[in-house]
Amino acid sequence: MYDVVIVGGGPAGLTAATYVRRAGKSVLVIEKDGFGGQIAWSPRVENFPGFVSISGAELGDKFLQQAMEQGADVELEEVSEISGDCGHRIIKCLSGAEFEAKTVIIAAGAKPRMLGLQNEEALVGNGVCFCAVCDGIFYKDKPVAVAGGGNSALQDAMLLSEKCSKVYLIHRRDSFRGEAKLVEALRKKDNVEFVLNATIEALNGDTELKSVTLNTPDGKRELNIDGLFVAIGHKPDIGAFSSLMALDASGYADSDEGCTTVSPDIFVAGDCRRKKVHQLTTAVADGASAALAACEYIDSL
Ligand code: NAP
Repeated sequence: MYDVVIVGGGPAGLTAATYVRRAGKSVLVIEKDGFGGQIAWSPRVENFPGFVSISGAELGDKFLQQAMEQGADVELEEVSEISGDCGHRIIKCLSGAEFEAKTVIIAAGAKPRMLGLQNEEALVGNGVCFCAVCDGIFYKDKPVAVAGGGNSALQDAMLLSEKCSKVYLIHRRDSFRGEAKLVEALRKKDNVEFVLNATIEALNGDTELKSVTLNTPDGKRELNIDGLFVAIGHKPDIGAFSSLMALDASGYADSDEGCTTVSPDIFVAGDCRRKKVHQLTTAVADGASAALAACEYIDSL
């Protein structure tokens, strides 16, 4: 039986693993997609202390390497259920694999939010995308749009402007949530057009996206585009574990900086936890707090 099983191999989960190992306890990190979490898709990270500029994928690799060098075990599996009793949990995976642990840290992160439009799901992969780093290349020399006004949307627009013939940046307000420095850099790009105070009303196209219809202050506007990159934030990816903890109204684990939950042997860290600032730095801070809280609980058994 492991002392700690961590669900999620992003910055929060991998930091927690490093701290658990340094406290002399055994730990397994289970990740369903790829280690590094969402940051692995960020082309450049320039606000993580100690690194002036580094690709998200490289930073994610460093988190993984550090945890493994400390002796953390890792598995690529999707956890489907956590059962058992307090202090002795059974972690079941979709593949049928099972692991036992005295404590569990949920660091499952968040997944992209969708616009909620009628044929959005049907067009995913056929014009509707959530990752400019992954899919931008398919739209080389073609017109695309990015929806959103946060750092993800701004970074996506910047990346796509290097490849695509035209990038419309569609935002529902006239000011951006993302960094002013990025906004200024985008304003200087000839092939980027800001479409502000605009909401997307319809995605047009049966089997692939052909255009979007917008509601703007000047009335309806249709943009002919081949790709729409939706970057309107994320929602917690906590569904399978929601019965183990209290959730807030938005579905985030309702825990404070102590990273504890209503179950004394279950802890929560990173983007799936309720907090004001969801950042890389706050995710790694959570990882440390959750790990130390889990170790304290184990020592009290
Ligand atoms: P975000 O900061 O929450 O921004 C989401 C954007 O989408 C907001 O501008 C929001 O508009 C808009 N939006 C939300 N729901 C919408 C809807 N239904 N229709 C249209 N627009 C909608 O999300 P994010 O950009 O994914 O960033 C998440 C966190 O990661 C942020 O803290 C960000 O700074 C961080 N991040 C960091 C890096 C890095 O390099 N370090 C890179 C990317 C992201 P309103 O502004 O009107 O609410």
